[in-house]
Amino acid sequence: MAGGYAGKLLKLDLTARKVTTEPINEKAAQKYIGGKGYAVYLLHQYLREYEKQGISVKDMDALDSRNVLIFVTGPGTGVPRFPSPSRYHVMTLKAPLTGSIGSGNSGGEWGAFLKFAGFDGIVVEGASDTPVYLAVVDGKAEIRDARELWGMNTMDTTRALMSAVKGKNTSVTCIGPAGENLVPMAVVMNDEYRAAGRAGLGAVMGSKKLKAIVVSGDKNVPVARPDEFRKVSDRCLDTMAKNAVTGEGLPTYGTAVLVNVINEAGAFPYKNWQSGVNPDANRISGETLTEKYLVRNRACWGCTIGCGRISTVKSGPFQIVTAEGPEYETIWSLGSACGINNFDAIVKAHHLGNELGLEPISVGSTIAAAMELNEKGYIPEEDLQGLVLEFGNAAAMVEAMWRTAYKVGFGKQLALGSRKLCELYGHPELSMSVKGLEMPAYDPRGIKGIGLEYATANRGGCHVTGYTISPEIVGIPEKIDPLTIEGKAQWVKTFQDFTSTVNSTVNCLFTTFALGAKDYADLLSNVIGWDISEDEIMKIGERIYNLERFIMGKLGFSDKDDTLPPRLLKEPMPEGAAKGQVVELDKMKEEYYKLRGWVKGMPTAEKLKELEVEV
Ligand code: SF4
Repeated sequence: MAGGYAGKLLKLDLTARKVTTEPINEKAAQKYIGGKGYAVYLLHQYLREYEKQGISVKDMDALDSRNVLIFVTGPGTGVPRFPSPSRYHVMTLKAPLTGSIGSGNSGGEWGAFLKFAGFDGIVVEGASDTPVYLAVVDGKAEIRDARELWGMNTMDTTRALMSAVKGKNTSVTCIGPAGENLVPMAVVMNDEYRAAGRAGLGAVMGSKKLKAIVVSGDKNVPVARPDEFRKVSDRCLDTMAKNAVTGEGLPTYGTAVLVNVINEAGAFPYKNWQSGVNPDANRISGETLTEKYLVRNRACWGCTIGCGRISTVKSGPFQIVTAEGPEYETIWSLGSACGINNFDAIVKAHHLGNELGLEPISVGSTIAAAMELNEKGYIPEEDLQGLVLEFGNAAAMVEAMWRTAYKVGFGKQLALGSRKLCELYGHPELSMSVKGLEMPAYDPRGIKGIGLEYATANRGGCHVTGYTISPEIVGIPEKIDPLTIEGKAQWVKTFQDFTSTVNSTVNCLFTTFALGAKDYADLLSNVIGWDISEDEIMKIGERIYNLERFIMGKLGFSDKDDTLPPRLLKEPMPEGAAKGQVVELDKMKEEYYKLRGWVKGMPTAEKLKELEVEV
C-alpha cells in the first residue's frame, strides 16, 4: 500500500461479536482518497448489498441494527508536519435526525492515534444486546464489556478507559447519556473536547450499544517521498503562519472571532432567526471571551493553528473551574439563537453539552424554536412541566439541555429535534432547519451564497461542506459581495468539491483559509507517492459529492428537499446591514444544478460516467 495509509480497516460485527480486518482497496483509495470519500464509497457498497437482498434503505430506520457506522481517517491523518493532521470522519447511511446520509468530522487526538494503533478505519455492523466497547491496542482489537460504563457521561467514560488502557498514544471516542438514550442530536465525542456528529451519529452508536472505542499504539505513518514532503510541508505551514486567519485570528480569539464580524454583516441569527442583529453581541464575542474567560489555548494533535479554548467562569450560578470552548457556533446556538447574552451560562452549557454528548447547533436551535413556539402560545402549559421557555432565560436553556439528553418531561418533545417539535405543535415553519438538520450561525438573508450551501448540502443545513463565508465575509481567496447572488452557484460548487477532498485527506478544514488545491495536490502526492494534480483534487471532490448525492436519491431525497425555511425566503430581514433582504434561492439553485449537470437535484447517468462513478 502507498504511503499515508495503515493499509487496513477493522470490521466490527456487533451482532456476531466478531472483529476482522480487511485491506484498503487501493483502486477505491485512488478514486476517493480516504476519510469521507472512502466512507461514501463503502456506504455505496452496503447500499448495493441491501438492494441485492431486497432491503429498502428508504424505509429502513436509522436505528435499525442493519445501519452501518464508519469511522475513517485519511492519508494526511497522523502524519507529523502535515497541516492540522489529527482528524477523522464518521459516516452512517441513515442519520436519525434527517433520514439523510449522516456525516461528521472531529479533531482532538483520536484520528491520529487510530492510525498509530495500526488501522485506517473501523466499520461497525450489527448491534450488541449488552453495552460493549472496542479496544484497539497495538494492531489488535477486542470487544469488551461496557456495562459499568453505561450511564456515565463522556468525560467520566474517557477517564475510566484512559486508566484501563495504559499504552502509548491512548485516546477515547465515546457516547454520553444523549447517545445512550437515542437522542437524534447525540454526538460521538472524543478526548473530552472534540465531537463528530451532526444529525445523531451518537444515537446510531447508542443503538448498537457501543459505548466507546479506545485506541492506542505507536506505529509510524509511512511517507512515500519524505524529502519532497518536508519541503511542501514547510511551505504550507509557513503560509498558514502568515495568513491573517490561521496565523492570527483563530489562535488569538478562536472561532468566536466571528461573533462581532457576522453581527455587523446583519447575519448573526437572533431569537430563532427573527433578526440577524443581536443588540448585545459584544457581550458574547471572541474579544470578551479572550479578555474575561480564557485560561489558555488548546490545539488538536499536530496542529499549528490551535483554535481551541479552555475557559473558566470564576463565580456565580454557572461557575466552572475549566471548560472547553465555547466555539462560535455554540455561543450562537446556546446564546444568541435563544436571546441569551449571559456568557457564563454559555460556557457552562457548552461544557454540559460535551458531558452529555449533545450536538450544540441542533439542541440550541431546537430550544430556540421551542421558545418562539411558547412565546406565541402554541405549547400547552402542562406540556412544559415547569420549564419557563422564554427568550433570554439562561437557566431554562441549561435545564432544557439536561431534559433533552435524558428525555425527561418536556425533554421528550425537545429530543425530537426542531423539525418534528414544530410539526407536533402545528408550526413547521418555525423550525430553522434544512432536510431536518438545524442551520448554523449565518443568516443567508445577509450572506446569500451560504443559503445555497445550506439548501444543497447533502447532510442538510450545513455550513462546513461549502464554507462560502470565506469569500463572502472574510475575503479569502477574494472578497465578494455577500448580498449579491451573482456567481454564488459557482462558489458553492467549488467549495463543496474542494471540501470533500479535504474531508477525505482527512485534515482540518481551517487550513483552507490559507491553502488551496495546489497545496493539497503537493501534500498528498508526496505523502502517498501518487502524482495527483490540482485538477484531480477538484475532480475527486466532485466525484465524492456526486456519489453521496446519488445515494441520497436512493434514500428518497430530491430537488424538493433542497430548500430553506420560509422565514428566509419570504420574511425580509427587519434591521441591520441586510435590512429588507430575502434569499433568492430559486435563481441560484437553477444555476447550481446546471453547473453540477444535475436534473431535478440528482446526478444524471452521463455525469456519473464522466466522473467515473460506477453505480
Ligand atoms: S484549527 Fe482548531 S479545530 Fe482545526 S485541528 Fe487545529 S485546533 Fe483542531
